Amino acid sequence: MNFITDRTLGKLAKWLRIMGYDTLYYTGAIDRSFLQRGAKEGRIVITRRRDMARRNFSGRMVIVRSEKVVDQIREIIGELSLKPENDKLLSICIKCNEVLQDVSKTEEIKERVPEYVFQTQEIFHVCPHCGDIYWAGTHKENILSFMREHNLTGHP
Ligand SMILES: [Zn+2]
Repeated sequence: MNFITDRTLGKLAKWLRIMGYDTLYYTGAIDRSFLQRGAKEGRIVITRRRDMARRNFSGRMVIVRSEKVVDQIREIIGELSLKPENDKLLSICIKCNEVLQDVSKTEEIKERVPEYVFQTQEIFHVCPHCGDIYWAGTHKENILSFMREHNLTGHP
């Protein structure tokens, strides 16, 4: 499931990426071109602009009402019956929306992550676009507990 969000939903777009969903954060005007981009790429349109619902658009659209990102995520999960998968968490670059690639634990990685991380982690991923290094560690645990705490897992 792929998404396009309007420019007012940057935090939501980031969270959808954290959960492993390919999400285009569209920073242009919230108009016909926004919808066309979504339709062209087969993305579900997520917007806060209620008047978008009246536009001629054949694809799927979700109008979010909440101000807070936690509530917005819950709206999306409910509306689309999403069940975020644990092994998809942190599989996409949060900045670039690119799928991360496996990378071996080499000296090159050692130079680019904190010493403690290199000592304690075995599995690393790299963004093919910006080159950022990702690892699971406590960050993934924190995200999971945040999702459970706020009932964002999609499991009742
Ligand atoms: Zn990146």
